[in-house]
Amino acid sequence: MDKKAMYNLSYGLFVLTARQGDKDNGCIINTAGQVTSTPNRISITVNKDNFTHDMIRETGRFNISILSEKADFSLFRHFGFQSGRTVDKFVDYSACERSANGLYYITEGTNSYISARVEQTIDLGTHTMFIAAVEDMDVLSREPSATYAYYQSSIKPKPEKKAGKTVWRCTVCGYVYEGEELPADFVCPLCKHPASDFEKVSG
Ligand code: FE
Repeated sequence: MDKKAMYNLSYGLFVLTARQGDKDNGCIINTAGQVTSTPNRISITVNKDNFTHDMIRETGRFNISILSEKADFSLFRHFGFQSGRTVDKFVDYSACERSANGLYYITEGTNSYISARVEQTIDLGTHTMFIAAVEDMDVLSREPSATYAYYQSSIKPKPEKKAGKTVWRCTVCGYVYEGEELPADFVCPLCKHPASDFEKVSG
């Protein structure tokens, strides 16, 4: 069995936003897709550790903003590498507007948004899958959608090699750990992925 087969699944990238009371939040996901066309339904799968997850479970509403190839790494850093539990991600964020459901969508580095209402919730252990009816949507630009492969090849900063030093690089976000050996229980401080998502880079 070659586990690298999983790398050949293609994914889009999305900013997932929710609103509860007067609190807005958003995170990055790569797990949205249309599941039926009549009626029009999409599914998203969200890690339970994400603050946005709890907001969607409580309110049953979310938007996905589809990231385009024009999305800057700073957008991934802003929505992906910090938690809405400790940071208000929208307090100084101007590249957004509210859709008819009152939730934010992202207007820069995106090409569309979709508003949806949760119909079914499926507990998957670490994650929850939400099946949701599409209520509204719009196209924002003609830029192609960013796939996860495009993010890896063209958006994420390239690792710097340090002469004579071995480093371990997070293959998800690019964070670099310096040292010969990476502790088995290491967790990426930026994106929270485990040691198994790091690759060794010899200087
Ligand atoms: Fe990382």
